[in-house]
This record gives sequence, structure tokens and C-alpha cells, in this order.
Amino acid sequence: KVRTRIAPSPTGMMHLGTARTAIYCWAVARHFDGEFLLRIEDTDQERSTAEATQAILDGMKWLNLDYDNKEVVYQMNRLERYRQVANDLLERGLAYKDYTTKEELDQLREEQKARGEKPRYDGRWRPENAVGKEIPAGVTPVIRFRNPDDGIVTWNDAVYGPISVSNTELDDLVIMRGDGIPTYNFAVVIDDFDMQISHVIRGADHINNTPRQINLYKAIGAPLPTFAHLPLIHGEDGKKLSKRRNAVSVMQYDEMGFLPETLFNYLARLGWGHGDDEMFTREQLAEWFDLSDCSRSPAQFNMKKLLWLNHEYMKKADNARLVELLKPRLEKRGADLSKVKDLCGLVGFLKERENTLEALADASMLFFADNPVDASSLPGLLKDKEEASFEAMKLFVEKAPSIDWKKDNIYGLMKEIMDEKGVKVLHLAIPLRVLATGAEKTPSIDATLQFIGRDRVLARLKEGMD
Ligand code: GLU
Repeated sequence: KVRTRIAPSPTGMMHLGTARTAIYCWAVARHFDGEFLLRIEDTDQERSTAEATQAILDGMKWLNLDYDNKEVVYQMNRLERYRQVANDLLERGLAYKDYTTKEELDQLREEQKARGEKPRYDGRWRPENAVGKEIPAGVTPVIRFRNPDDGIVTWNDAVYGPISVSNTELDDLVIMRGDGIPTYNFAVVIDDFDMQISHVIRGADHINNTPRQINLYKAIGAPLPTFAHLPLIHGEDGKKLSKRRNAVSVMQYDEMGFLPETLFNYLARLGWGHGDDEMFTREQLAEWFDLSDCSRSPAQFNMKKLLWLNHEYMKKADNARLVELLKPRLEKRGADLSKVKDLCGLVGFLKERENTLEALADASMLFFADNPVDASSLPGLLKDKEEASFEAMKLFVEKAPSIDWKKDNIYGLMKEIMDEKGVKVLHLAIPLRVLATGAEKTPSIDATLQFIGRDRVLARLKEGMD
């Protein structure tokens, strides 16, 4: 059975790269009718926080990445299991206790650096090297895995193809720290084995860890999963995405007013493709996705494209849903929601022009505002047409109560009055706009008047024409 997992460390926000990996893991699981599991890798006790765990759960939920384990796996709940496997390796001579002090390790590193060598543990506490050595008092040992001395570790990466690393490149890895907490490379192997993960899909920054992990799989007698590494995501400057220069947290995109399906689709498309398809559903992704179609070079994040895609999704989205998403944003801006009766209609109208929920909220505020009615700019705007325009406005106020208050009828009425009074559309639109909204620029005047609502419009026109 195909089983994939996303295994974030809760040390910050949920990163875009993590989200993309999760989407691909989800797609592989759904494609093969398998399972997609979530595991929280919280063994770094200094950097892991409850807030970061919550941010991951929120991000998964927001992106609708439904995982199949009822109980999320937390590594800190599995310490007993890691200790048991470590002890087993000790007993079988595949691991050993290392009493090297921090000072000794520092010194070793300095010496190796001075010789121009890559720092690596020299195996001084391997049983054959430690014969007759006295165990120093007061040092809590770490447990190291006895890496094979020779041979080559090879795997066929589902994205990068065959990769080989010689064991001479690898030193003896610490698998258990002095405090009894496992290291990442050790815990990840035991977890992926216990969770019966068939496909380990993760960032290319882990390629260096994979040969070490393969040696551990072999040592514990576990079958090897398929490994797939994904190139990093770069920012528009061509550099690795960074917290300082880019919005890298999934929930920041929620705040900026992107729809979750936009980010899902965008991230899925970033580094993978199905012909020229730019817009696809989750179901299509699950159907089409194949790891071998993933790109081997870094993908570049493009805000313009994300905005374009969000606009497309907003146009497709159900208006009632958009209203619900918009309400908290309007309330934050101080809007009294009861003022606009037809919020759905307003959203349906404005979403044709705006590309994020934030932009939609900003544009909506005009319809909630009760700017003071101020006619003082009109003489300057209307010039010699002021008188004629005033006559037209009077007629508009007179006839407005008798029409069905819809933009087409409002425009029809304007047209009728323009013909009757011999004025141009501007001479009616300008005063209507200025008086009804307090702004000189608005979306098309007929729709604007419709969504402000007849009563509010007429009250303001009368006040302004007094
Ligand atoms: N906790 C690791 C990370 O967030 C998981 C890597 C893996 O998937 O093996 O990078």
C-alpha cells in the first residue's frame, strides 16, 4: 500500500516549501488510493513550540490537506521506541557509546580543518579503538551508529534518478544524544519504518541525509522506501526563499487575501506540470500527479502569477462563500455590515476587478462609508453645465423611487434624463458619484448606486442638493 507522510519540525511557521511537499505527498497517496500521514518532528526541544505545531495544523487545514491518521504522530511520544532500537543496535554491535567530550570534538575539528580536511568523527570510541580506554567520569555518552567502512550506497531517486555515495564519505552518526533524545536521521528512519511509509518525499536539502538513513534502514532490517527529493523554491530574486525577504509562511497568504485553492494550485504547479494546464482541481492533481514529472531545478516563485491565479479563482468562487471570507476583513476595517443589503451582489460585482480578498475588502469599504456629503467640488467639475446638471439631478431624485433599483434600470433612468435634459453622461454621473459616495472615483456609477442602496443614495442626494 502506498503511504506518504509530511514530517515538519514545529520550529517556526508552516513554510511554503513544506506546503508544496505536503501537496505532492497528498497527491501521491490519493493517486494510488493510499494514505497520507502527518508526523510532527518535535525532538528539537529548544526550538519546537506549541504555537508552531498549531501553525502547521492550521496550515494543513486551510489548504485542505486531509491526512489519514486520526492521531497525529509526535516524535516526543515515541522516545521509548527509539531507545529500544538504539539498544538493539548496541547489542548487535552496530552502534556504540561514544564518550568524547565537547572539548575533544572541538579540538578534533580544529586539527582536521588545519589539515584542510572535512570535519568528521574519527571513530575513537569504536570498540576496537577503545580497548583498554578508561571511561571518563562524569561524561554522558552519545550513541553512534557504526557506519559501514566501505561499499557504496545507491538509490534511484524518483525525481533526481540514481544517486550514489561512498561509505568512505560518511562518518559514524550520532543516533542518540546524551539526554536520550534521538537525532533526526535516526528517528526519521524508525518512524518511516513503523508507519510503513512507501514513499519518502521531501526537500532536496535532505539528499545528504539519505545515504546515512539507508544504512540505518539496512541495519534495522527495514525495507527501503522510494525516495523523492524536491528542488527548493526560489524567490523572484533567484535566491532561496527567506523569511527576511519573502512571505514564506502559508498563513501569510491567507492574511494577504489569497484563497486556499489558489495557493494549493499554485504550489502544485511550482515544480510540476501537466502540459500547459495552469488551473486544475485537487482531484485532477491526484489523477495526473507523477513524481517523475517533477522538475529537477529550483522553481521560481512569481507573485504576479499567483495574483492572476487568485483572480481566476475568485471569479469562479461562490459569492456567498466570498462574503463569509470577507466579513471579518470588513469588520476589521470598521464596516457596519448591516448598511449594505446585497453583500453577495456587491462581492459578485467587485470580484471582477479585484484580485485578492484584501483588495476586495478595500474596494468594498466605499459602500459602507458615510463620508460627509460635500458638494463643494461640483462647480469646478461641472463648469458651465452646473445648472443643467442640477436640473437633471432633481429629475433623478424625483423618478428614482419608481424604478426597480437595479443597475440596468438605474442606467436606463439616467439615459432617459440625459436625453430629456440634453446633458452628457458625465454631467449626471459626476454629481451622483460625488454626492452618493463622497468620492470622485468609483466603479461604474449604476452598479455603485445599486449596492449603496436606494434609501441611502436618495438621502445623500437630497442633502447635497439642499
Ligand atoms: N523534519 C524534517 C524537515 O522538516 C523532515 C524531513 C523529512 O521529511 O525526512 O525538514
